[in-house]
Amino acid sequence: MIKEVILCKYGEIVLKGLNKSYFESAMLGQVKRRLEGLGAYELHCGQSVLYVEPQDEDFAFEEALRRIKNVFGIVNVIRAAACEKTVESITATAKVYLPPFLRGTKTFKVEGKRSDKRFPLTSPALSAEVGCALLDAVPGIEVDLFHPEKVVHVEVRENAAFLHADDSRGAGGIPSGTGGRALLLLSGGIDSPVAGYMIAKRGASVEALHFESFPYTSERAKEKVFELSRLLTEYTGKMNLHVLSLTKIQEELKRTVNEEYFTLLLRRSMMRLAERTAKKYHDDALITGESLGQVASQTMQALRVTDSVVSLPVFRPCIGMDKEEIIAIARKINTFETSILPYEDCCTVFTPKHPKTRPVLEKVLAEEAKLAMSELEDEAFAAMEDHVIKTY
Ligand code: ATP
Ligand code: MG
Repeated sequence: MIKEVILCKYGEIVLKGLNKSYFESAMLGQVKRRLEGLGAYELHCGQSVLYVEPQDEDFAFEEALRRIKNVFGIVNVIRAAACEKTVESITATAKVYLPPFLRGTKTFKVEGKRSDKRFPLTSPALSAEVGCALLDAVPGIEVDLFHPEKVVHVEVRENAAFLHADDSRGAGGIPSGTGGRALLLLSGGIDSPVAGYMIAKRGASVEALHFESFPYTSERAKEKVFELSRLLTEYTGKMNLHVLSLTKIQEELKRTVNEEYFTLLLRRSMMRLAERTAKKYHDDALITGESLGQVASQTMQALRVTDSVVSLPVFRPCIGMDKEEIIAIARKINTFETSILPYEDCCTVFTPKHPKTRPVLEKVLAEEAKLAMSELEDEAFAAMEDHVIKTY
């Protein structure tokens, strides 16, 4: 019987030198959490590969593959047949295991790799052996060494030989939890989930903060943000979601300040509240989804006015991206369809027709002084809701 396993090839971790085991164990932790409840399996690490070996028939193999593809730190997720490191065993396994992957394929090539130098065949000789076996086993197929439709791999490694023809890209990046903690300002839009994903990909633990403006924003708008957080947890693992209400601040701004400054002052308030939240939960940075020039509050001058209220670094991974590029990532991480559900965001409540695009800080401060902002913010902060979002 063929024994199928999952090989997970490490990405940047391999460059980590002495710290490698720290990154490796963080990644293992993420894999283990995701495989909970899928059946019995064993994990082994060696030569910059993590091996997942199912231990019973009922192991949910496809689901395991799907989940592992979202673990940062892994660049390739490969389903492979494992067999004994003898030429006979390898060719026999190739004949049974590989043909289904070659169905409908006209040309192929075998890429053999012998990392165990005690194995008697060189890599090219091994490729030729397996190639011959497949020519016998798959009618009508031909070898094409230069432009094959399909590449079949045979790897003779430390512990066993592995045959595979179905590699998938892993999530890449650096294992979650190895790169500090950051607080994502998560709206219901397209950009902020992408921004959170991008920073999480670089190893940060990410938690989220959402501002609502009930009853101007609906319960459904909030549910959408819960769903976006849940979708992000496919990558980030468990995530906290904090919710703050801006209703009163917005009403006061609307009543008191020059309309042109409404959005800027609101955004300054959001940033101050975000920094307070970050300090409370020991986050070392903020993440937002702005893209330069996208709207009035995302010009350089406007960003300076909003950034001047915080001391933590503000990561804006979408800043240099076009909407199309952001959307491509949103689709890839599966947040796009949820993001475009048409519910209002607090930033779209009371928005002025002519916001300032080149604000001057002194004028902004003069407008801000018209209301008791710190009291309003204290009140909003005290009413924060905390939720834990967990998929696995
Ligand atoms: P997004 O698509 O992420 O909503 P956007 O292009 O609509 O972004 P803005 O509405 O100007 O941009 O918001 C800029 C950033 O401010 C967002 O990317 C997000 O990080 C943060 N933000 C906006 N609204 C909220 C909200 N209701 N709660 C939390 N953060 C928000
Ligand atoms: Mg928005």
